[in-house]
Amino acid sequence: MTSFDLIVIGAGPGGYEAAALGSARGERVLLIERDHLGGTCLNHGCIPTKTLCRTAQVALDVAEASRFGIGAAQGAGSATAVDMPTVMARKNAVVEQLREAVASVVSGCTLLKGEARFTAPRVVEVDGESYTAPRIIVATGSQSASLPVEGAHLAITSTELLNISELPESLAVIGGGVIGMEFASIFSALGTRVSVIEYCKEILPAFDKDVAKIVRTAMKKRGVEFHTSTPVTGIRTTPSGLLRVEFEEKGRPAFVEAQTVLMAVGRRPVVPEGLAEAGAVIGKRGIEVDGDFQTAIPGVYAIGDCNGLCQLAHAASAQAAHVMGHPIDLATIPAAVFTIPECAMVGLTETAATASGIPHRTARSSFRSNGKALAMAETDGTIKSVIATAPPASPAPPASPSPPASPSPPASPAPPSEEKLLGLQIVGPHAADLIMAPTLLITAGLPLSALLRTIHPHPTLSEALLPALR
Ligand code: FAD
Repeated sequence: MTSFDLIVIGAGPGGYEAAALGSARGERVLLIERDHLGGTCLNHGCIPTKTLCRTAQVALDVAEASRFGIGAAQGAGSATAVDMPTVMARKNAVVEQLREAVASVVSGCTLLKGEARFTAPRVVEVDGESYTAPRIIVATGSQSASLPVEGAHLAITSTELLNISELPESLAVIGGGVIGMEFASIFSALGTRVSVIEYCKEILPAFDKDVAKIVRTAMKKRGVEFHTSTPVTGIRTTPSGLLRVEFEEKGRPAFVEAQTVLMAVGRRPVVPEGLAEAGAVIGKRGIEVDGDFQTAIPGVYAIGDCNGLCQLAHAASAQAAHVMGHPIDLATIPAAVFTIPECAMVGLTETAATASGIPHRTARSSFRSNGKALAMAETDGTIKSVIATAPPASPAPPASPSPPASPSPPASPAPPSEEKLLGLQIVGPHAADLIMAPTLLITAGLPLSALLRTIHPHPTLSEALLPALR
């Protein structure tokens, strides 16, 4: 049995961050990974999809080039103009380059390639060899979930769709969540006929419905077909070789036929073999943890997607930092969706604030009167803020005896600029980058005035935030 100070299982953004922080402070760290460094995020998630999002944007720009007075964009944006081998080669090159970057980040750790399984509370085995440490961090991530319907096996996962060699003529996406919408956006821009089938009333359920609708409307304009409030009942092959996704729409059977079907109905945690037997509790969402991400086994932690608390790469890294004792605010986690138009959110939506009974008001601004957005020809979208209305004024002080007190003025609420932001949602260009200033306001507990009195360079998209904070 070989001993280390720290064992980390899984080299995704949670695992490699924890391992790197451990080795940086001189711990002997064993990092076990059964596949590539970088995990889902780098190899099958954030990075490859964002590389394809850029390709999608280029396709749309080329298709619209004549609007900007540039050449004739014949055939651009259509399926025949897309050179899939080049698209995939660029994606693979980006992934490869970042794998090298991750390798250098964890260069102080002992790397072990293989599948880890628990054989005792703080003992893991890889290929018949046992390893132990006083602290073990499980960061084994998640995998695509599926629907319990007939023919579900005919659909492919996001990982498979990221590795296709030919552009499908048509694509049916089951699930209008973040992953489904990013792929719908990418493939529709490349010329594929895309249909989205979503169980809920509106796509992107984490956003307020009025905000999500803006994304749906923009994608509809680009030809994406949406079926919402439509539970899928099955998938079958048609005589012509297409796949038929069957669902209920307004109480009646309906279907969509497509060459490829993407199953994007969420992700379920990956739990290492033997962990439950060693004493950890596995709940519905994932490996159960306490407020410090410790499982029911003392000294064994579970971070990132495998605990099911927040399936985002930066949440996994933040949880790693917390477990390794670095100060980080886990309460405010921004999220972005890289559709075209992009969207992002932080804090509470209006729906959540109302449901929690928190007194609030909302304010909005748009990109239509923003100089930079107009220059970019990207004015679709909105910024919606949810602002805590001032707490009730404290009771008037007791009247002083002399001189006779004038009647105390009615309690006035704090000036709007001293109110605090509860949450903000953006649909529009570079939403994912713009969300950072509002995230800082919420994390630092600063009043709106902190941003309103800050000079913003002109012309920038960041100026569009200001009216939504007034
Ligand atoms: P992972 O990144 O999944 O890493 C877990 C690692 O553990 C894997 O490498 C796996 O091989 C390894 N492993 C598992 N079991 C074992 C074992 N027993 N032994 C050894 N190794 C093991 N998030 C964002 O924040 N932004 C995005 O834009 C974004 N886009 C996404 C797009 C797609 C298509 C997908 C699928 C996900 C996306 N995500 C995005 C989510 C993000 O990828 C995950 O939240 C993140 O990767 C979770 O990190 P993790 O460290 O918990 O696990």
